[in-house]
Parts: sequence; structure tokens; C-alpha cells
Amino acid sequence: MSSYRCKSVGVVGSGIQGVCTAYQLLKKNIPVTIFDKTDPLNPEYKMASYGNAGHFSPYAVLQFNRPDILNDVPKMLFSSTGPLALKWNYVHKMVPWFVEYLKNCNKKSMLHTAKYMHQILNLSIDAYEEILKEIDTTNLIEKKGIIYVWTNKNLKSRNLEIKVRNDLGIKQKFLSTNEILKLEPNLSPVFDAGVIYEDAMHARSPHGILKKIFKLFINKGGKFIKAEVKKINQINFNQTEIVTEKQSYKFEKSVIACGAFSKKITDQLGENIPLDTERGYHVHFKHMDKLIERPVIFLDRGFGLTPMNQGLRAVGTVELGGLKNPPSKKRIKYLIRCAKELLPQLDKHEDEWLGFRPTLPDFLPIIGPSKKNKNIIYAFGHHHLGWTLGAITGKIVSGIIAEEKTNLDLSPYSSARFN
Ligand SMILES: Cc1cc2nc3c(=O)[nH]c(=O)nc-3n(C[C@H](O)[C@H](O)[C@H](O)COP(=O)(O)OP(=O)(O)OC[C@H]3O[C@@H](n4cnc5c(N)ncnc54)[C@H](O)[C@@H]3O)c2cc1C
Repeated sequence: MSSYRCKSVGVVGSGIQGVCTAYQLLKKNIPVTIFDKTDPLNPEYKMASYGNAGHFSPYAVLQFNRPDILNDVPKMLFSSTGPLALKWNYVHKMVPWFVEYLKNCNKKSMLHTAKYMHQILNLSIDAYEEILKEIDTTNLIEKKGIIYVWTNKNLKSRNLEIKVRNDLGIKQKFLSTNEILKLEPNLSPVFDAGVIYEDAMHARSPHGILKKIFKLFINKGGKFIKAEVKKINQINFNQTEIVTEKQSYKFEKSVIACGAFSKKITDQLGENIPLDTERGYHVHFKHMDKLIERPVIFLDRGFGLTPMNQGLRAVGTVELGGLKNPPSKKRIKYLIRCAKELLPQLDKHEDEWLGFRPTLPDFLPIIGPSKKNKNIIYAFGHHHLGWTLGAITGKIVSGIIAEEKTNLDLSPYSSARFN
């Protein structure tokens, strides 16, 4: 424990990173104010921390910066019926991201990402348990594992994933088609094999959990201001300023946890961080959640099904197209087709949703002080794993703010790697 005590913190963003960070700061008796343009308690709140697949996936160390899929990327991009799609009007804006991505798409970077994702993923469930024991999670969380299924088409990639996970000591139990059908008898056997991660769990309502953590924060004395933050300044060595349209607020330290929207603020701070978004979609099949016991992901299709309180959520795909393009009907149709391939009994869908994964080209998040302003701390860029990593990010960021010592190697998450 350090003897230093931070006097006040402003956290921008009430997604899962912001709320968990704010909660952990309060636990250290540091006064905290969260800013968000949308109130997370509002039913209209529809950010990534609302609409994701709800997986707590501590095993998911491998990301898309892997040489085995690089050859398939152009083919996938030109097809409107695959798991990856592109909005062509956005290609030119994504060039800096692609350049960095290509630099990071090799075996060495892939293993670096896997190692440092594993470092934090491995702590992710314990960090959540600490928070979850303080809220009533009845009907919000299920601990039945997560199943991935695949066909024999991309066995080279499947074998690579299995090896990397084995090397890191991640528990995985392989399943034949029959064993999968014993666990999930309603699935159509359109796959050849799979794996279950028995220690994984899933949220039946990510938004429900987010709201409960947020309410806990408010009940313990945290403050919330509903406003869009225009910029953050460091006015002197121990004072930052959060500027909204109407007012500005002073805090000793500030945290940027705006998910895919963080770049707008970091650009103003003069840091050129190549953050972009992988857009993803979901739809619900109402009252169909009982068809499966646990999440099932079809790897070849880049999509999955999660049983949730809102219904059976068909969720996934990656679309590169920025924050402003409208949702694509083709992506929704793709999701529905994939869902019906696994469960032909599905009928009408509702609630078409588009969300924004915040993704850096090396598929590591940015967690740590801004390169230019040490009192401004970053907590964004958690791509496909931001739901899983919310609680551990909150612990790490609150530790940085309180100037506590850590045994973790945090240097790989620094924004300095891009500057
Ligand atoms: C389809 C899909 C499926 C996913 N499935 C999973 C999964 O199963 N497991 C998993 O671990 N992860 C999953 N993810 C990823 C995960 O949802 C995200 O990484 C995570 O929610 C990001 O959290 P966040 O707090 O960083 O950002 P967000 O949830 O996007 O929150 C950012 C907040 O900042 C606010 N904000 C932004 N700019 C400003 C501003 N200028 N002023 C004020 N407020 C601002 C926004 O209103 C928002 O509330 C999925 C994502 C998608 C899209």
C-alpha cells in the first residue's frame, strides 16, 4: 500500500470499464464522478457493454492478428456472406489501422498478444467475483461453460488455437459431434467437433449487471453527471479538467473509458493512437432462450448464440466501417441465416442492434497513463474481450491511480507502443 492518497477522479464513460474502475476507486475511499452522454440506467442505453454476447471468456487469448487467417482476409472482405465485412466508404479512413495491423500480423506479435491477454484474462473472473458478491446476480449469471463448434474446413487454425492455449495452461475439453449433441440436443449437427470451456460463464443480461454495479457505485457515494465530454486538459501537474458543453470540472486525475469513442479525446491530447472499431451485431429470438443451455459459438461463421433474459441472442460478425455508417441489413440477414443453420426451429427475430468493439491493431487494450499527461489514465481498446476484462481493468486502473505497486507487467498495454 502506498501512503499517497488521490483526492478526486473523474471517469469519462459508464460502460463496463468506466463503472468497474469507478467502483474500485470508491473502495479505496477516493471520491469519483462518472461522466457519460447516456445514463446507463436508461432503458435506451445501447452501448457495447449492453449488447455484447455476454461471455466471460478467460480462455480467449488468441485474437485476429494471426498469420493463419491473413490469407483469408481479402476473400472474406469481398464476400457479403461471410463473418467479415467492409463498408467501402470507410476504407480510406482505416488505412493507418490496417498498416499497424499488418505490422502486427505475424507469429511473434500473435504470441505476444496471447501472452499479455492471458496475463489479465487469467485474473478476470476472480476480479468479477469480488464485485459480483456485492450485488444480487439472481437470473443474471449462469455458470455452465461455453461451447465452440467447428467444421473440418479450417483445422490448421483450430490446431494452432489448441496449441497456444495448451502452452499457456488453459483448460479445454474437446468434444465430438455426439458429445456436443448430448449437451445441446436441439442443435442441428452441421459441425464436426468442438470444445467446451467449463470454467467460463455467461451473463443473461450484460446491461442488467452493468446497471447493478452502477447502482452500487451510486449507493456508496459515487457521483454521475450526464453530459458529453468535449475534452480533457491537464492544467498543472496535479490537476486535470473535464470539459463538457456547459461546464468544466476539476479533478486530480481523470480516466478515459469511452470504448470505441475514446480516440476523439486522445487525438485532442496530441496522442496519435490508432484506435478503430470492429462493428458487431445482435438480434433476439424471443422466448427461444431455452433451446440451448449455454452459449454456443460457430467458429467458421464468426457468430454465436447466447441464452439471455431478452431471448436467444444471435450475436457477432465483424464489420469494418467506423462509428458513423448506418447498420447493414446484410449483416443482420447473415446473423439470422447462421442462427437458423444451428437451430432451424427459430422463427421471427426482433431488436436489431449494432455495437462498436474498440479495437487496436495489435489486439491489446490500452491500460495506463497517457504518454503526455500522467494524471490522465486510459482504459479502452478491449476489442472482443471488453466484457470479460471490465472488472480486472477496474482493479488495475484504480491501482495505478492510487500509485500501488503491482506484480503485473503493464508495459505492453501502454499507449507509448504506438508513438
Ligand atoms: C457484437 C459484440 C459482441 C461482444 N461480445 C463480447 C463477449 O461475449 N465477451 C466480451 O468479453 N466482450 C464482448 N464484446 C466486447 C465488449 O462488449 C466491449 O469490449 C466492451 O463492452 C467495451 O466496454 P467499454 O466500457 O470500453 O465501452 P462501452 O461499453 O462502449 O462504453 C463507453 C461509454 O463511453 C461513453 N462515451 C463515449 N464518448 C463519450 C464522451 N465524449 N462523453 C461522455 N461519454 C462518452 C458512451 O456513452 C459509453 O457509455 C462484444 C462486443 C460486440 C460489439
